[in-house]
Amino acid sequence: MGFTDIRKLFPILDQKVNGHPLVYLDSAASAQKPIQVIKTLKHYYERDNANVHRGVHTLSSRATDAYEAARIKVSNFIHAKSEQEIIFTRGTTSSINLVASSYARKVCQEGDEIVISAMEHHSNLLPWQQVAKTTGAVLKYIPLQADGTFSIKDFEQKVTNRTKIVSVSHISNVLGIANPVKQMAAIAHKHGAAIMVDGAQSVPHIKVDVQELDCDFYAFSGHKMCGPTGIGVLYGKKELLEQMEPIEFGGEMIDHVDLHEASWKELPWKFEGGTPIIAGAIGLGVAIDFLEQIGLDVIEEHDKQLTRYVVERMKQIEHLTMYGPEKDRFGLVTFNLDKIHPHDLATVLDTLGVAIRAGHHCCQLLMKHFGASATARASFYLYNTEEDVNQFISALQKTKEYFK
Ligand code: PLP
Repeated sequence: MGFTDIRKLFPILDQKVNGHPLVYLDSAASAQKPIQVIKTLKHYYERDNANVHRGVHTLSSRATDAYEAARIKVSNFIHAKSEQEIIFTRGTTSSINLVASSYARKVCQEGDEIVISAMEHHSNLLPWQQVAKTTGAVLKYIPLQADGTFSIKDFEQKVTNRTKIVSVSHISNVLGIANPVKQMAAIAHKHGAAIMVDGAQSVPHIKVDVQELDCDFYAFSGHKMCGPTGIGVLYGKKELLEQMEPIEFGGEMIDHVDLHEASWKELPWKFEGGTPIIAGAIGLGVAIDFLEQIGLDVIEEHDKQLTRYVVERMKQIEHLTMYGPEKDRFGLVTFNLDKIHPHDLATVLDTLGVAIRAGHHCCQLLMKHFGASATARASFYLYNTEEDVNQFISALQKTKEYFK
């Protein structure tokens, strides 16, 4: 299937916005859904909807089977050792908060260290600030270079035998580049620290193998990879998840309850208190089937190639500043155009049917590093084409004229 045919599977893209064909360049915030995922959700609510794990009736066992089958798909997709290592959450934010609130609060004592970088999305920053505040651990930042990246050497210098956890994004949502998480994991482990990887921007674009990376925890969101909103994943090594306490208590996650105490179910269910996000998980399973059918290597090449093309075209526009290093970007480019405020830029582009993001992208520390209060970001996914890029470039040129 070619990418023009792939695009046709996304009904939302077949519309005009403000009188122009929609050019959707905001997939890093949330990706669109193919018809298979939409139909699955409809089918689930029309035919199979029931609570899981509790019922003996047919609908409940259908829902349970589909929910647990989705877990196996996720497990195979990221090459976990077992589906017991896959916890369904609300998204990357919840997954990181789960590790911070359970694992990190348990292992960190006063004077211990948590190593992160100022490149991180707030979801991979604020939970660690909270852990540092409540445990007395020290939050250490890997220094950033002028282009917003960090070197592995600088990282290595920050990690000591007091480091308990390192947390880093696999692909940055502002720079679009990948961090060397496999090397970082080896360094963290040499010092007895665990590594958590924020995979919100990587899992949609590249093949991720958690065993090969040897990361201890890995988080991602369904809605950025053609799945429904409200569903996400925490992968954790079984031996670590087994040591961790749940952070939500209630139905579904218990084994036995007494007057003053209770015991928990085995993995992964002890972390899934309450009715889980059943339709979301099933929809995510179908999104994974869809991505695998196309092939993650094909998607990665398409997204990188399209980003190379847009970067080359953007270089020809005067007074346009792009942020981040000159290397392969995985489907996004962050920029400012002349003195136009990015919100004004995004508003004018919207009148031309082009949807981009403007603001701090939940990365205020990185914005500060660049001395910018805000930037614009165009992001690309498997349904975008060179024609989208051409329309975007032409819209940028019109906007520049408009503000002259
Ligand atoms: N981390 C990164 C790098 C992201 O880009 C995002 C979302 O933009 C998140 C974390 C948070 O994801 P969610 O809002 O789905 O929890």
